[in-house]
Amino acid sequence: MGSTSKASLALDIKVIGAGIGGLACGLALARKGHQVTVFESGNSLSEFGGGLQLSPNATRLIISQWGLEEEFLKVVNVPEVMTVHRYSDDSVIGEIAHNPMVGWQYGYPHWQIYRPDLQSLLANGAEKAGVSMRFGQSVTAFDPEKGEFTLSDGTKHTADLVVGADGINSRSRSCLSNAKARAFKEYCFRAVIPRAKMEQDEETAVLMAGHLSMTWVGPGVAILGYPIAAGQLYNFLVAVPRPSGAPVAKWNEPGDPKEMTAILQDFCPVVKKLCSYVEDCAKWTLGDLPPIENYVSSSGKFVLVGDAAHAIVPHLGQGGAMALEDAAALAEFVSAMDSRDKLPPLMRAYHEFRQPRIESIRRMAHGNQVSYTMADGLEQQQRDHLWGAMTAMWKNELQNLGEKGMRAKPKPTPDPDAQGFRTPEGAEFLFGYDVVAEAQKALKMPRS
Ligand SMILES: Cc1cc2nc3c(=O)[nH]c(=O)nc-3n(C[C@H](O)[C@H](O)[C@H](O)COP(=O)(O)OP(=O)(O)OC[C@H]3O[C@@H](n4cnc5c(N)ncnc54)[C@H](O)[C@@H]3O)c2cc1C
Repeated sequence: MGSTSKASLALDIKVIGAGIGGLACGLALARKGHQVTVFESGNSLSEFGGGLQLSPNATRLIISQWGLEEEFLKVVNVPEVMTVHRYSDDSVIGEIAHNPMVGWQYGYPHWQIYRPDLQSLLANGAEKAGVSMRFGQSVTAFDPEKGEFTLSDGTKHTADLVVGADGINSRSRSCLSNAKARAFKEYCFRAVIPRAKMEQDEETAVLMAGHLSMTWVGPGVAILGYPIAAGQLYNFLVAVPRPSGAPVAKWNEPGDPKEMTAILQDFCPVVKKLCSYVEDCAKWTLGDLPPIENYVSSSGKFVLVGDAAHAIVPHLGQGGAMALEDAAALAEFVSAMDSRDKLPPLMRAYHEFRQPRIESIRRMAHGNQVSYTMADGLEQQQRDHLWGAMTAMWKNELQNLGEKGMRAKPKPTPDPDAQGFRTPEGAEFLFGYDVVAEAQKALKMPRS
């Protein structure tokens, strides 16, 4: 069911891009009673991509706002812990608690999902809420002040509000900012391995069973692996924190599995087995977008969301979550309007509401990758010791307090300046965030 409060003034809203941000905006806005059309340049929803993390700040929206828990539970992986393994001998260095602990702490679970599954579930929800989808419609020009845009076939469209959700290499962004995606000094290989291959060998079959999520950390390279697509695929992501000539933020450019395997030659046998199952992979350079001055035009008739507004590096697994938070927040701000002349101040307030959180998360995400790819040595030994101690700490606490005690623990004060999610205050800021409640609070503040 989810939340059902309706907007007092229903608007005509047109969304550019049927990625995670665009589909979520369609869903959130249509549920508030707005008339929404989504224009997507592809001829169908994209079938590319690997696994995505949906942390509690994101699952909160899917469950409590949009009422899609049942559908999601059919396809998501619900990991109990993420085990962190040493690259060379597969020994466990530490464990990061996921389910059910995060549910007790933050009220909502941590899921992992196949990107195409996330898109199709959001699209189904959006269509059920009344969104109309138009594929093969590439937007080529914008007038952000008038809320007008042109499609590649030359037709012009206007709307009360146009939402630019066309990703990191956004075309719509150019009408507000000259910022372009910048290459990060890190590249990735991504592969998905079919279940049948994983089951060929006991050591890899076990990775599909239970609800496991793993990372192997080695000098200059880290791997992430977990089952997705209702257990039919294994998501295998290799991150290499060095510059490369691979295309920036182009997720579907082919890579060479042999090159990937060569990078992992010092890894343990199970990783080598996984590599041997990979027939094709993607390779790309990570990219982000420098902060832009404004997500909205001065008329308030044009707004950027998701990666088009604020692509961040994926080390915290928050790219998809930020796009979902944008959608939920936008629906609150837009639906608080009782006359059209309130659009400019409300949209300005939307920008002011979202940007500080995004910039905190951008900073946290940058801090996170260094610790996963340390060279062997004293610093790495200290890191391993720390991760081991932190694991022992949460396990002891769990044993002492049990579920009831964990649920009753006082909430730490969320800290937007935390270095990452490893302090209780940083984790609370990241995962305990209720974007809808915060948006409603912000809407009650006086505005100029
Ligand atoms: C195919 C694909 C695979 C990805 N894989 C990964 C991954 O493995 N790891 C990772 O960290 N992140 C990945 N991402 C990015 C991640 O999904 C995003 O960070 C996040 O979900 C933000 O979503 P978004 O809706 O803002 O942008 P996106 O998900 O990028 O969606 C943008 C949408 O806009 C459409 N579009 C673009 N230009 C136009 C136009 N002119 N007119 C109309 N429509 C247009 C695109 O076709 C796309 O559907 C991937 C993105 C895509 C599109």
